[in-house]
Amino acid sequence: MSQRRTFFEQVNAGFDRAVAMTDHDPRLLTQIRECNSVYHVTFPIKRDDGSIEAIHAWRAEHSHHKLPTKGGIRYSEHVNEDEVKALAALMTYKCAIVDVPFGGAKGGVKIDPRKYSVRELERITRRFTYELKNKHFIGPGVDVPAPDLGTGPREMAWIVDTYNSLSSGELNSLACVTGKPVALGGIRGRTEATGRGVFFGIREVCSLEEDMKALGLATGVEGKRVVVQGLGNVGYYAARFLQENGAVLVGILEYEGAIASPKGLDLDGVVAHRKETGSILGFPGATDIPTSRDGLELDCDILVPAAIEQQITDENAPRVRAKIIAEAANGPTTFSADKIFRERGVLVIPDAYLNAGGVTVSYFEWVKNLSHLRFGRMQKRYQEASNLRILSAIENQTAKSFTEDEIEKFGRGAGEEDLVNSGLEETMALAYLQIREIKLRYGNRADLRTASFINAIDKIAWCYKDMGIFP
Ligand code: NAD
Repeated sequence: MSQRRTFFEQVNAGFDRAVAMTDHDPRLLTQIRECNSVYHVTFPIKRDDGSIEAIHAWRAEHSHHKLPTKGGIRYSEHVNEDEVKALAALMTYKCAIVDVPFGGAKGGVKIDPRKYSVRELERITRRFTYELKNKHFIGPGVDVPAPDLGTGPREMAWIVDTYNSLSSGELNSLACVTGKPVALGGIRGRTEATGRGVFFGIREVCSLEEDMKALGLATGVEGKRVVVQGLGNVGYYAARFLQENGAVLVGILEYEGAIASPKGLDLDGVVAHRKETGSILGFPGATDIPTSRDGLELDCDILVPAAIEQQITDENAPRVRAKIIAEAANGPTTFSADKIFRERGVLVIPDAYLNAGGVTVSYFEWVKNLSHLRFGRMQKRYQEASNLRILSAIENQTAKSFTEDEIEKFGRGAGEEDLVNSGLEETMALAYLQIREIKLRYGNRADLRTASFINAIDKIAWCYKDMGIFP
């Protein structure tokens, strides 16, 4: 059954499971569930060898209950309309869960970026931006893309540059896209944000003794055995923050296969090895596993799928040995695999909550662009001076004399990155408390995914009710 559900149907199955526990007007629920608009465009690009190729691209805006809509653009050969709609829907719920004031959107270009030169990728990105602008599917108050699978700050730089050239003099044009390089209006901490948010989310979950006890695990991240699938932006930073905080990275899964070591893998060593040899396989001291999919079944406490969707299905879910599935990617677990995990008592931390760090910091970047002011610029020195006055008062009143290091540590004012990371930490912690509270309120009927959906649906429903559209 699960294999026949499309990705959008999988997301909607989760939605339907949650709404069955609410008493919202069914007409309102239909409005929330449907994807509001989809733009499919085909445009020609000239390859470096002079040939012409037709490129297919999509932008889906799932919900306009808040504007702008927000969501990444992915470059992948698997992109299709259903996938873009599913990912846009997840963005709607994600934004609501972390109280980021956007509707959900997503874009995709159906190409394997590894098969195109940088110049070709630039032509594709600029042309897609032009098409989006032409049809009003991009703009600071309309729809704001960001990086996703296969895209990053470079593509966002091309997008903002193209948008700027098409909107001469538009005061807020920098806010048309997020995830930009810092020199082009980006924000410090955005590159790491999704992975850092994944870490914060896992840390929150692992901090609750009662919940860990139920899984037969000790409290805290330290010592937890972790397997990460996908060493891209999200997977790499999630692995890095987990490892820095004492988790043991016992497995890494990539396109070409998987590697395992019960004693732990040195993340940066693996990255360097892959750069040198083109593969994670053959890493000294690790065992090679032929496929990424087999690696999902490695013995560990936390499995972090951080690559692509539909990796854990009802076929392999019974053999997954992790006690916690931390969904860093969007949609890695199918609806029926989720059911198996509920029955087996495996804790799934859902994507719509766990990978929301990216959109949270994108929101900060958007606000920065609209305010035309770097966070911390006004108060950093002021805060430093007050901190130093306090330290000096303590020294005067006590026998204590602070060392240079202590003065640097306690006296420092908060800069942009400190504020971004602090805002992200607060967001992830608060959102988890809300979800967990809903889960407890519904007893055994709601898992974390269902609780996240209920949380999001309630918040979106309030918007429509406050507009007087639905009773
Ligand atoms: P990325 O392109 O930077 O990295 C993806 C990595 O996964 C690559 O290293 C790729 O080789 C690997 N990969 C692809 N297929 C694989 C497979 N079958 N097995 C093992 N590895 C595989 O992409 P990303 O930005 O890190 O995104 C990863 C996931 O996180 C996606 O689901 C994306 O939608 C989601 N996400 C990303 C962001 C963000 O800010 N970038 C935010 C929220 C969610």
